[in-house]
Amino acid sequence: MALKIDLHVHTCYSSDGVTTLREVAAYAKRRGLDGVAITDHDTVEGALKLQGKKGLIVVPGIEVTTLGGHVLALNVTSPVPSGLTLSQTIQKIHEINGVAVMAHPFALLKVARAACGPQSFDAIEVINASTVPFAISTHLSRRLAFRLNLPQVAGSDAHYGPEIGSAYTLVNADPEADEVAHSIKKGAATPFGRAIPWRLRLKRMSLNLKKKLK
Ligand SMILES: [Zn+2]
Ligand SMILES: [Zn+2]
Repeated sequence: MALKIDLHVHTCYSSDGVTTLREVAAYAKRRGLDGVAITDHDTVEGALKLQGKKGLIVVPGIEVTTLGGHVLALNVTSPVPSGLTLSQTIQKIHEINGVAVMAHPFALLKVARAACGPQSFDAIEVINASTVPFAISTHLSRRLAFRLNLPQVAGSDAHYGPEIGSAYTLVNADPEADEVAHSIKKGAATPFGRAIPWRLRLKRMSLNLKKKLK
């Protein structure tokens, strides 16, 4: 069964997100998604609260800040500590049966640190709809994934409801969060997506500023 899943979504439980859980579910439905992975910065609270939502596959996750950039941990229900090396982070994710995804490796042309010692990523986010510059980052990320022979995934990195579904991954799996995670690891995933339009980015930025000033 091919499931359409946005694998990188932030909610208002993220320090920089404004989307309520109700909005996440509504926009996911509107965009024809079968599911979302909730990957808030350094917290799983929103993901856990959205789990069990009827008609929506919710892959619980977290976006971990590491010394080597952002890492998405999918299929985890407890937080993964931030501030560790890539290798340590991936090890922690694997210890709790999670899937470790290299997030937006070329955002703002930061060079990806692909070498991370004995621990290896399970997949690479080759399309991230929020990344600037989009086309070149996508191209370089795809090349990196081919070179490392790793599965390719996509997500919107939405921090605002209307951005949800701008990018998504088609995953061949049974409609359960852990089946989705397992299939990604096996490479049964195909990335799709476009850059988020500037109109939405500017709206997101102004809402974000309002949240910070509150
Ligand atoms: Zn990130
Ligand atoms: Zn993110």
